[in-house]
Amino acid sequence: MELRVYLVLGTFLGVMACGSDGVSEGVDTTDPERGVVLEAELPTEVPEPEVPEPSAPVVQVASVTDLPPNELGKILVLEYHRLGEPENEYSRKAENFRADLELLYRSGYRPVTMRQVLEGMPDLPRGATPVIFTIDDSSRGQFYLLEDGSVDPNTMLGMWEEFRAAHPDWNSGAVWCILPGADYPSNFFGEKPSREVPRAEREAIIQKKVDYLIEHDHEICNHTLYHARLDRARDDAQVQEFIGRGEDSIQVYLPDDYDIVTFSLPLGVWPKNRSLAWQGEYKGKPYHYEFVLEVTGDANESPFDRTFDPHSVNRFIVAPGRLERQIAAWERDPSRRFVSDGDPTAITVPTGAAQRVDTVRWPDLTVVELPPEGEVNQAGRTS
Ligand SMILES: [Zn+2]
Repeated sequence: MELRVYLVLGTFLGVMACGSDGVSEGVDTTDPERGVVLEAELPTEVPEPEVPEPSAPVVQVASVTDLPPNELGKILVLEYHRLGEPENEYSRKAENFRADLELLYRSGYRPVTMRQVLEGMPDLPRGATPVIFTIDDSSRGQFYLLEDGSVDPNTMLGMWEEFRAAHPDWNSGAVWCILPGADYPSNFFGEKPSREVPRAEREAIIQKKVDYLIEHDHEICNHTLYHARLDRARDDAQVQEFIGRGEDSIQVYLPDDYDIVTFSLPLGVWPKNRSLAWQGEYKGKPYHYEFVLEVTGDANESPFDRTFDPHSVNRFIVAPGRLERQIAAWERDPSRRFVSDGDPTAITVPTGAAQRVDTVRWPDLTVVELPPEGEVNQAGRTS
């Protein structure tokens, strides 16, 4: 484990190695949630190290890795379905969902959404590896509002928000792939069947849920109206109906300026005409997606790599033990994993790898190659 964890506490920071500008090296001074200490607040004299009072508030910040940046390394687009037992490819136990968050956080991973991938993941701190949580089928165990209007703490969303509250630099959301027209319990996260609840009441609850997701930086993704197999549609028009009606039925709850950019293929099966998965039209209304999520796959290419295909994003199913093994493998050989340079204007890559960057897709970013000398354990050198 190559983690640097700074415990920042008032004057304690003053004893850390200061650069010539008087700001501690390695500490991001731009984000208040990472323990910003403004230059003026730094003590002019270096005090003796102080042991914090047991009751003093200790803020854990900047727990990113020491790994050299490698923005051509691979990323994990995790795929979850139901919460529950027994565990299998489509079901994760609550305690293991919590453990996944903890393991990823401790290992230097930070969440981003597909929308943030589209923007080049500008908010990732240096040394962090992005991880994308995609959660399919909008079932009850994923997100539920209790009678008092609060989020059920034992749902995936409840656990996520609890984890975020305890770890302020776990500061983004997951991607929720919704089936607006499916039967209970996959209709907008376990809403009661419409015949049991007056329509206005039901819609008000769904609106609250969607508002919550948007306000908390989560992403809404279309997973079709009710999970029909797109390869069994009778024609192109029906494919577009499954996708377009799904989009429309979600869109009514979204802010006007919210554009859904991600589509998740039900069961990972493609329509005969593949391009209809990312572009089409239903009842005169066009739909368009930047990303199409597959159901299977391994770690995905970096979005900065020429070989990255946004219309076929591989996903890593969180089957029992699999994520743990993947994280351990990348601890042993970190050269395989994406590591951020912390600079939203640059794409930092291993020595000799600049030609792999997709400069057509990212014309505004500067490609920076790591220097060949003095870099031991350089990322990306494995063949
Ligand atoms: Zn599904």
